[in-house]
Amino acid sequence: MAGRHAGLDLIVIEAEHLYSRPGNPYVGPDGWDWPDNWKRFAALSWVAAELGNGLIEGYRPQLIHCHDWQAGLTPAYIKFGPSVGVKTVMTIHNIAFKGFFGPDVFGQLRLPSHAFSVSGVEFHGGISYLKSGMECADFVTTVSPNYASEICTPEFGMGLEGLLNGRSDTVTGILNGIDTVAWDPAIDKALVQPFSANNIQKRHLNKQEVAKKFELDGIDGPLFCVISRLTDQKGMDLLLEALDGLVALGGRLAVLGSGDEALEHGFRNARTRHPGKVGLITGYNEQLSHLIQGGADAILIPSRFEPCGLTQLYGLRYGCVPVVSRIGGLADTIIDANPAALEAGVATGILFSANNTHALYEAIRKAVRLYRDEKSWKKMQRRGMKSEVSWHNSARRYVDLYTSLIGIQLNDDID
Ligand code: ADP
Repeated sequence: MAGRHAGLDLIVIEAEHLYSRPGNPYVGPDGWDWPDNWKRFAALSWVAAELGNGLIEGYRPQLIHCHDWQAGLTPAYIKFGPSVGVKTVMTIHNIAFKGFFGPDVFGQLRLPSHAFSVSGVEFHGGISYLKSGMECADFVTTVSPNYASEICTPEFGMGLEGLLNGRSDTVTGILNGIDTVAWDPAIDKALVQPFSANNIQKRHLNKQEVAKKFELDGIDGPLFCVISRLTDQKGMDLLLEALDGLVALGGRLAVLGSGDEALEHGFRNARTRHPGKVGLITGYNEQLSHLIQGGADAILIPSRFEPCGLTQLYGLRYGCVPVVSRIGGLADTIIDANPAALEAGVATGILFSANNTHALYEAIRKAVRLYRDEKSWKKMQRRGMKSEVSWHNSARRYVDLYTSLIGIQLNDDID
């Protein structure tokens, strides 16, 4: 099926027997992966490669950009298929999700037998779709420069660091941007009071609304928030450990999220322990996430790893100061309020060592201290609101990458 949306031509694959199901594209309503995900995403990857190979008369793409393991077989189908010169880029959004399946499915993937090898789809005796893409694509990108370096180390590479190191001249990190129209505090309908960097004091009406929704007792003192999957990756267990300290410092906390049952339980307990100081709303609520960003004073992101992270970018844009671990894209996008940065007037948030409850607590303490200096806090908020968080620079980098790859192709042709 073909159509046009937002100025783009779209091709949609219709395969009801694979995709027409309840739940979301990845998991069933019970939250578990579909058992035939290997086939569902092999089909997606196969069709993409077929399009690259000229399936539609008159349509010859020069480059296929594949995202995450679900599209990871496409570069393998291109590499082991007919040689038509189409280039492939593989982008890793989270190396933890490898799309790993047993060797038994190989026979049904329509790949030649020699593709089941180290230079193909094989990974630890089975098949990893992500590894396939990383191995076979012409170029590998990930979503921040810092994460691109981190995944070349055993600590973050999750077994794929060797592959990345072996092709380091064709691996790079390009930051994600955000939709600055959907996320514009001056016109955002999810806010009770829109605002801009010039009238940041108006945020307090949103803060009042957040406090009301989370049943917090007033808005004196700093209001911290979390908008996140509740998982260990996001460091939510560390936050639970630091939470009593946050409250003792005079802070309040609004948590919007869902995920691990044990962590949800932990936040429910904290709410009972600290009525009026800690609020929890479970589930996924996009509108509410806008209101929180527009009302809370600071957003806590204590991730253990974070390929890019979006919530700190929304936080910057909405004057909700990011307090984040010094990791992945968080470290690439936030300027820590250290003495030099404060002196130079460039700080946009607070950074602390990842995977360290004490460091998280100290960062919260620092945020509380800075918050009490109203003038410099507002300055930090304004600077964040003026940070470049759009796709502008990153889109340019993707265009440069595409043209250099297609250029290489032209040179190859000339040779
Ligand atoms: P990840 O993709 O690892 O979950 P990111 O920070 O890159 O983390 O992106 C998370 C996105 O999901 C953000 O847009 C954030 O606002 C949104 N989000 C996470 N949890 C919720 C929730 N409970 N309700 C609404 N939005 C949420």
